[in-house]
Amino acid sequence: MRSLSVAARRLAALCLGLSLCACGAEAPATEDRTEIALIVYGDVVMTMDVDGTEIADGAVAIDDGAIIAVGTASEIDATFTAADTVSGDGRVVMPGLVNGHTHAAMSLLRGIADDLELIEWLERFIFPAEVAVVDEEFVRIGTRLACWEMIRGGTTSFVDMYYFPDAMAEETLACGLRGVIVPSVIEQKSPDAETGAESLAQAVDFVRRWRDRDGRIIPAIGAHSVYTLSRPRLEEIQAAAAAEGVPVSIHVSESAFEIQVTAANHGMTPVELLDDMGYLDLPLIAAHMVYPSESDMALLAEHGVGVVHNPTSNMKLASGVSPVAAMLEAGVRVGIGTDGAASNNDLDMWEDVRLAALLSKVSTGDPTALPARQVLDMATRSGARAIGLGELVGQLVPGKRADVIQVDLTELDASPRFDAASHLVYVTDADDVVTTIVDGQVLMREREIPGMDAEALRRDVAQWRERIIAATGGPAQAARNESP
Ligand SMILES: [Zn+2]
Repeated sequence: MRSLSVAARRLAALCLGLSLCACGAEAPATEDRTEIALIVYGDVVMTMDVDGTEIADGAVAIDDGAIIAVGTASEIDATFTAADTVSGDGRVVMPGLVNGHTHAAMSLLRGIADDLELIEWLERFIFPAEVAVVDEEFVRIGTRLACWEMIRGGTTSFVDMYYFPDAMAEETLACGLRGVIVPSVIEQKSPDAETGAESLAQAVDFVRRWRDRDGRIIPAIGAHSVYTLSRPRLEEIQAAAAAEGVPVSIHVSESAFEIQVTAANHGMTPVELLDDMGYLDLPLIAAHMVYPSESDMALLAEHGVGVVHNPTSNMKLASGVSPVAAMLEAGVRVGIGTDGAASNNDLDMWEDVRLAALLSKVSTGDPTALPARQVLDMATRSGARAIGLGELVGQLVPGKRADVIQVDLTELDASPRFDAASHLVYVTDADDVVTTIVDGQVLMREREIPGMDAEALRRDVAQWRERIIAATGGPAQAARNESP
């Protein structure tokens, strides 16, 4: 009798355990569950962890800005009760996208100078237009416009190289996104400095003021490129970043022109020149990397440099095709970026995710290059690592900050669905994102962004359009057509 009774009790305990965890029976009483801030549900939770774990009928538990648990909806419901929930029917939950290279405020120059080659675009139009029109208010409104677009499209972290970094950082904080804020140093007069020396001094001041101010703002220093800066200035920037212990973001090996000019001036490739100056020992975010040599790739891999691939910008400026598959094969960390809206002309990461996949296939002649899950990884976990945020974000695992998005895949143009990763790469665009969460804060819910006044923003942007036309004479395409 006694042994039977023990067996019976064990059976009862087993049944209880099953009903709590796996059978989908009613959740236990509220008082038995931990109260947390937020639970986000999804038909599929793509954790983007190292094993590529995907959970059907999953949920992500969030509290105090961090992910505290990821599991099936029934497991999460059995353990937690939340003050706020986001339902997940027909939706994929995944980490927010990481835009590894942009110039947010240049959203105000969207479409000002199209159909031009990089150097002509930069030197004849963008640099003069910036000196003529970019001030602190331009950066505020331009960054705000970019933030709206990034939240709308599910980008949660971005690397922003531009001028007036306090305005960049303040707007990023205000809109709720996470940003690596990079004051860009160039040799000549820039919108916020008369000289390269002044620009660098301001960048260092900015880093010191913002270093520990808020976990969502990561200050860094920007070197525009090896072809727009003298070697002494590049050395000063490297020394300043090393002394301050912050990353450097730079455009590298972006065009054939850059390769030629660097060889002529320095007798090296841009990557070799950066190595020679100690840049590869810094946390380095190297945007573009269209023309790395084989030995460059080995150096980039060996030093853990974060490369950011910008397929739309590289295609639009005809800069060339970055050998992404070869870099990945060589062990280089590669993320994805949009570049600024003056050379894209939007900040839709889904477009760059899709183009990264397609461009790799057509350029290698290998349709298996950059399969869907790998390119999604470049936009999330690996992209976060490439910009130095791998400890914080990029995957849905306990302990990471809660940067989470939901993508709706119920529309007819996303039907039928056999594989979520396939749809996310080859079908999804910004409009399909329904929820954007950063640091546990819901910035967009059911496609609405309550923290931003879209109508006021629209008015401000319209006013800036008039000012830009007055200051620059209007779009560069027209100017070029009139010139001999
Ligand atoms: Zn750029």
